[in-house]
Amino acid sequence: MAKFIFVTGGVVSSLGKGITAASVGRLLTAHGFKVNIIKCDPYINVDAGTMAPFQHGEVFVTDDGAETDLDLGYYERFLGIRTNDCNNVTAGKIYQSVISKERKGLYLGQTVQVIPHITDEIKSRFFRVAKTCDILIVEIGGTVGDIESLPFLEAARQMRPDRTHSDSIYIHVTLVPYLSSSDELKTKPTQHSVNKLREIGIDPDIIVARTEKPLAAEIKNKIALFCSVPQEAVIDAPNVRSIYHVPEMLKKQGIDEQIMMLLRLRSKKWDFDEWTDFVRRSENVEKRQSVNIAIAGKYTKLKDSYKSLAEAIYHASIANDTKVNIVFLDASKNESTALKNIHGIIVPGGFGERGIEGKIKIVQFAREKGIPFLGICLGMQCAVIEFARNVLKMKKANSTEFNPKTPHPVVDIMENQKKIDSKGGTMRLGTCVCHLKPKSIVKKIYRKTIIHERHRHRYEFNPSYARQYEENGMTISGFYKKENLPEIVEIKKHPWFIGVQFHPEFKSKPLSPHPLFRAFIAAATQAKEKSNLEKILAEQK
Ligand code: GLN
Repeated sequence: MAKFIFVTGGVVSSLGKGITAASVGRLLTAHGFKVNIIKCDPYINVDAGTMAPFQHGEVFVTDDGAETDLDLGYYERFLGIRTNDCNNVTAGKIYQSVISKERKGLYLGQTVQVIPHITDEIKSRFFRVAKTCDILIVEIGGTVGDIESLPFLEAARQMRPDRTHSDSIYIHVTLVPYLSSSDELKTKPTQHSVNKLREIGIDPDIIVARTEKPLAAEIKNKIALFCSVPQEAVIDAPNVRSIYHVPEMLKKQGIDEQIMMLLRLRSKKWDFDEWTDFVRRSENVEKRQSVNIAIAGKYTKLKDSYKSLAEAIYHASIANDTKVNIVFLDASKNESTALKNIHGIIVPGGFGERGIEGKIKIVQFAREKGIPFLGICLGMQCAVIEFARNVLKMKKANSTEFNPKTPHPVVDIMENQKKIDSKGGTMRLGTCVCHLKPKSIVKKIYRKTIIHERHRHRYEFNPSYARQYEENGMTISGFYKKENLPEIVEIKKHPWFIGVQFHPEFKSKPLSPHPLFRAFIAAATQAKEKSNLEKILAEQK
């Protein structure tokens, strides 16, 4: 049976618990263990799918079509694993399942209660995933002290008395704030949050202290003393250059050795070179020439809304040895002047009418000025609408999502979607197979003819217009054969113009950057070189 590592958070939210959990997972993978991770989200939503991105950041989609918390994206990127619906346990899922069992009479006359029924249901979810690995990391969302997360913490607590003591350990991620007025790091909030954890019955084994400044030995001693852990178990986690530096930073302080000692495990190997190589290359990229990439979306206030996208661009930047500056443009405002000095434009996924006309204008700018363009999901749909209006001369072309009465529904809802009346988990979700046209640009980029990518949308490129696009220069180069749906469009007479109905960003990893993003950043670099050359030639005239 697997061993368990529970990761809790104290003092404030947004401390980077997810990244800490994923980094610990990376280190243990390097030691030769099979690691899997669960994220527990204490909210009542069954999944993240119905929440707006500015609530909890992006909705991460797994192969099996689960709409999950963005931390699952970190798990996939750090561990190189594929997660699924079981990796995200929400209070909504737990209550839904317990209530449905109660209605079926499966509790045989018992009073159904938080303890043991809810906690048993939570633990059964842990055990289900534990079958797949040697070590299961369980990150518990929220902050210790929240009412909502109590059943999850209680389930985590029960895991130690239920089983052998050394089968479960507890890592508490906390904040040690710096007070500039007295030039001091304060340990009191950490002491309080550990006390709170103890009230629930959990004694943390390792404390990861997030700080702005490294912890001096005396501060570590103080935390160790008040929190009853050895000094080596107090890990200092100051801000680092990038999230990908976190595993090394934790390793330097021996967190992996501590964990293996507590879980009574022995390292099987040490295979970390690929990761360190990536981190060193990422440092070198800082010194390289840079390109400016605009992301024209509408959730630009919260950067987490486009987390996987930003990560995919970062992986591609390192693969191209080119620094990338991301410029977020709010498409609902007129920011066309901000498009000066931009070497590539991405219109990402999104929902709803706000900002659509702005996005369509931005696509037109990219198409007419020959700026490398990548349209993702809604971004591809905007490219299809723009092409219809300005090239095919169907001035009122639209998606029926924005204008149900458009005379030219070039993007439309499919028959099977029309019957659906509930929003949660009902879109076209998860991995679909896509066939690429033999002589297409995407075939060259992917270097294969069959690809698998993840979807999350209701509307589709209306195939009845396909011929008109083909005849006028927009090629449909990817198909979902089963439903006869166009999945990719490209313009051959453009330096780089591709729209995809799926979300390639979900599959990019630092150690295997996604081919589309790689090719897009390469095209942006070329675009910059070309425009520099043109400027020089113009000056010489
Ligand atoms: N709103 C569009 C649809 O539902 C696009 C969705 C997306 O970009 N993920 O089809």
